[in-house]
Amino acid sequence: SYSNLSQSVSQYVENLLQIDNDPNLQQVMQIAKKRGTPPLQVVPTDGRNLEVFARTVQARKIVEIGTLCGYSAVFLANALPEDGKLYTCEHSTHHAAVASEVFQNLGLSHKIEIKIGKALDTLPSLVREGPFDLIFIDADKANYPKYFDWAVENLRSGGLLIADNVFVFGFVGNEELPQGELANLILAMRNFNEKCVKDKRLVTTFLPTGEGMMVAVKK
Ligand code: SAM
Repeated sequence: SYSNLSQSVSQYVENLLQIDNDPNLQQVMQIAKKRGTPPLQVVPTDGRNLEVFARTVQARKIVEIGTLCGYSAVFLANALPEDGKLYTCEHSTHHAAVASEVFQNLGLSHKIEIKIGKALDTLPSLVREGPFDLIFIDADKANYPKYFDWAVENLRSGGLLIADNVFVFGFVGNEELPQGELANLILAMRNFNEKCVKDKRLVTTFLPTGEGMMVAVKK
C-alpha cells in the first residue's frame, strides 16, 4: 500500500540526501537539545522540500507560523536572497529565544524577524509587508482554518501556501476513529483539508511526506 511504500522510500530518500550531515543543521539541533525545545520540527526531507518550494517561487518574502527552534526557518531563509525576509511567528518566548540564538549562530539574523506572541495577534502587523511568496503553517492545529484565511488573502498570485501535519500521524483516513482527543484532531484536520480543496482561489495538493504536507498555489 501507499504507506508501506512511503516508509521504506522516505528512509531511502533520507539516506540519499544526508541532510542532517550539514554542519549548520547539526548546530541547530545541538542548540535545541541544549536548551530543551521539544523535538517537533519538520523531518529533514521536509526541510529540503520547503527550501525547494521557496526557491521555485523565487521567494523574497516568506511568513512562517510556528518557529520552535528555527529548524524549518533555516531552510526557508537559505532560499532567500540576501535582502529577502522571513517573518516567523512564535508565542513561546523560550522557543523564540532558542531560535534567535540559532539564527545568530548561523549568520541568518538579518534575513529573519521573529514575531513573538500568538500568531493571530501578530499576523495583522505583517499585512503591510506583503503580499508574500510563501506562507508555511506549522503551529496550533485548532487555528489552521484562521491561518489559512489570512494566508490566502496575503499571498501573491503564484505564491505557495504550505501546511504541515495534515495527515494526523497517518490517522487522517482511518474509517474508525480512535477514542479521545485524537478523534477531534482527525475531524478538525479533515475539515481543514476540505476547506483547502474547496477554495477556488487555490490549486491544492497533498504530499505524503513527513507528517503530510498540504501544498497549494494561489491562482
Ligand atoms: N516549524 C517548526 C520547525 O519545523 O522547525 C516547528 C514548529 S512546532 C510544530 C509548533 C510551534 O508553534 C511551537 O513552537 C509552538 O510554541 C508554536 N505555537 C503554538 N501555538 C501558537 C500560536 N497560537 N501562535 C504562535 N505560535 C504558536
